[in-house]
Amino acid sequence: MASPNVEIKYTKLFINNEFVDSLSGKKFASINPVDETVVAEVAEGDKADVDKAVAAAKKAFARGSEWRSLQPAQRSALLNKLADLVERHVKEIASIMTLENGKPFTHAMIETYGAAGVLRYYAGWCDKIHGQTIPTDDGSLVMTRKEPVGVSGQITPWNYPIILLAFKWGPALAAGCTIVLKPAEQTPLCNLYIAALTKEAGFPPGVVNVIPGFGPTAGAALAEHPDVAKIAFTGSVEVGKLIMKASGNSNLKRVTLELGGKSPLVIFDDVNMDEAVKKAHEAIFKNSGQICFAASRTYVHSKIYDEFVEKSKDLALKRKVGNPFDPATEQGPQVEKEIFDRALRFIEIGKKEGAKLVTGGERVGNKGFFIQPTIFADVTDEMTIAREEIFGPVQSILKFESLEDVIKRANDTNYGLGAGVLTNDINKAIKFAQAVDSGNVWVNHYGAITPSAPFGGYKQSGIGRELGAEGLDNYLETKTISIKL
Ligand code: NAD
Repeated sequence: MASPNVEIKYTKLFINNEFVDSLSGKKFASINPVDETVVAEVAEGDKADVDKAVAAAKKAFARGSEWRSLQPAQRSALLNKLADLVERHVKEIASIMTLENGKPFTHAMIETYGAAGVLRYYAGWCDKIHGQTIPTDDGSLVMTRKEPVGVSGQITPWNYPIILLAFKWGPALAAGCTIVLKPAEQTPLCNLYIAALTKEAGFPPGVVNVIPGFGPTAGAALAEHPDVAKIAFTGSVEVGKLIMKASGNSNLKRVTLELGGKSPLVIFDDVNMDEAVKKAHEAIFKNSGQICFAASRTYVHSKIYDEFVEKSKDLALKRKVGNPFDPATEQGPQVEKEIFDRALRFIEIGKKEGAKLVTGGERVGNKGFFIQPTIFADVTDEMTIAREEIFGPVQSILKFESLEDVIKRANDTNYGLGAGVLTNDINKAIKFAQAVDSGNVWVNHYGAITPSAPFGGYKQSGIGRELGAEGLDNYLETKTISIKL
């Protein structure tokens, strides 16, 4: 087990390969959600700091700069070096993440290794970015080139701070872009740690910049900045809409959005009951329910419904909630008071609207932001808990009768990020997977993500895809060159 007393070395803004104070001198606290103590005071960036960071990123991107002059193999070597360093410092990074976020240390370790894997995957792309030659009627030679889009602004949430950083840094750096990241205000320190590693890896000054701060100030300044060519945002639908507006009001920067979800997991009556209960349990309770594609609507076939609810209750009662540095812990606290209060509010609404509280529903202890694994049965599609993203450890179990019925109900939402189906009937599985309006569908497992496959949402769950070749394309422009022969 790593020591929670890990040294916090990096608390300032990272601009031009230096850690600097904010121009205003302001600071804010990163809070440990386990006991509400301050992990560290962090420099608070706002518009003036964002301007400074974007200027550094713009300079680093200028033609003839050190970064622009690197060969693809050299960019690849830098990305691989960064991945090596992330792995070498995995315990420090994971410890800081757990201190700020509250997720079990074992999960933070897996996340950090996953981030290194994503960086390595994109290191492999650097020398494979190429255009095409295209036949023409008049015999002229037409070819395309792929070029980096420019300064990329990136805004991330707190729930998976390091893997989501890698989703953005990997393709941006492989493409040859430069970066200004505004990490979530709840988890700035683990992001700053990786910033320090980019310097150690040898990235030239200005290629990577990190500005901790708040959304409406630093985040909005980045989204509105005229010198930012592309913005990659992961967070709520509400803020995603603001990012789109800011792009329209400024320089029409390219926008990709990874937003929220209300993902259905459908369980047919032919499954192995214990396995299905366990998969559905993990699909909603992992990361304290704070996952964009958390399976927050569990649809269970009527024939097995009662038994499924009973067994889910038994499992929830066994779930170990507590100190995230204890290796036996399965669930830490919610990340902060606001998210904790919000989840408890939804639980009250669930009770009022007539859902049956099977287990949980209360906070755990009287310090920190822990919530009991909570299950509601007899949930109907109209209830608020079946419609809105709770982002907490709350499982809503709904009953269904037929494939046609459950497809219609699964799709009756503004979201479309994740969906799952558990069945031994291949026809049902494929029919469901094809009919559900969702960017990611899992059959007989839930939530697996691989760096080489695109990830993203339908409808209001987002625009564009991260990961895979599509994730890289977000950071590239296509130039068509036509030559009269
Ligand atoms: P949030 O939208 O409140 O914040 C996300 C980021 O946006 C933070 O860095 C925040 O500071 C910044 N921000 C806030 N207001 C802003 C503004 N006006 N302008 C610019 N930036 C601003 O979301 P959150 O509560 O931190 O995260 C939870 C949400 O993120 C959930 O809806 C979840 O589903 C979603 N999420 C989606 C994915 C995905 O890949 N689709 C992954 C993780 C989380």
